[in-house]
Amino acid sequence: MQPTPELGQADVDAPLVADLLAGNRRALAKAITLVESTHPEHRQRAQKLLDAVLPHTGRSLRLGISGVPGVGKSTFIEALGMFLIERGHRVAVLAVDPSSSVHGGSILGDKTRMESLSQRMEAFIRPSPSSGSLGGVAEHTREAVLLCEAAGYDIIIVETVGVGQSETAVAGMTDIFVLLQLPNAGDDLQAIKKGIMELADLVVFNKADIDMQAAQLAAAQMRSALSMLHPASANWQPPVLTLSALRKDGLADFWQVVEKFRSTLTASGEFEAKRRHQSLAWMWQQIDSGLRGRFREHPAVQSALAELSSSVEAGTTTPAAAAQRLLGLVSRNF
Ligand code: GDP
Repeated sequence: MQPTPELGQADVDAPLVADLLAGNRRALAKAITLVESTHPEHRQRAQKLLDAVLPHTGRSLRLGISGVPGVGKSTFIEALGMFLIERGHRVAVLAVDPSSSVHGGSILGDKTRMESLSQRMEAFIRPSPSSGSLGGVAEHTREAVLLCEAAGYDIIIVETVGVGQSETAVAGMTDIFVLLQLPNAGDDLQAIKKGIMELADLVVFNKADIDMQAAQLAAAQMRSALSMLHPASANWQPPVLTLSALRKDGLADFWQVVEKFRSTLTASGEFEAKRRHQSLAWMWQQIDSGLRGRFREHPAVQSALAELSSSVEAGTTTPAAAAQRLLGLVSRNF
């Protein structure tokens, strides 16, 4: 895990862009720190930096990986990362963990994780930004993906814990979303309930070394459960694999499926279409949150909000009427 460098006072400059494009890991870490900052001046510099590197982005495969704590995400990512580096790839690992600011330490950002991968020059590992809300964390991670691509990483892994909303966010910023599962009875049903299975392009049962039969049974059950869902693509029925991250068993098969996903959806045009759709969705999220922020900060709203909120709570004003009144206060200035 690379340390998080302090931000310098100087304006974002050509040398940072040049170092970043040259693949300098320190420059990349510094650039990510800049995009994670909520300071308005840093945000401006971050935007300039992102604009400058944008032509050098997009040339990676973005892989989302999710699963409950203990399923073996870091073991798997470390094994996969080493496997990919041996094949000439450069691998960046980012995380989305909105709980990190609540608990004061990231579940995913623990420095002892992925020790051998983090020592490789071809790898870059970054813990989850701890900016609080999921929206903020996801936004910064999206920007970090672009920076990693500009720095020459051709495989970007975005990891998240299996807690619902963060999985939707990660599926919305990656090309292929992988759901890591434990071969315990009932796990598959849990995933169905949470609506996570609809997001999965590929399901992997880890820890198959413990009980191969149980893993295969779980995989068969998952296959039949998946066959009842409407697949996101007519060209891709999400496959179900078993592997052992600990024994590095099944990685080649896994990667073959990922490559097949990429080639199948590239051929059908869906790969690029998904990215275009994700970019537009990201733009609208930014507009929504920007408008909301400007609305809340508006002096007329600030002075009327408390009273109108109380009336809504007391039932003397309907929520719709209060919303109309508040929106009416700012509509001319927007
Ligand atoms: P994470 O919380 O999802 O990142 O899970 P970890 O990668 O930290 O793994 C949790 C525990 O499961 C660790 O003790 C790992 O050694 C173990 N583990 C991970 N993958 C496997 C596997 O394929 N087989 C077995 N037997 N244990 C594994």
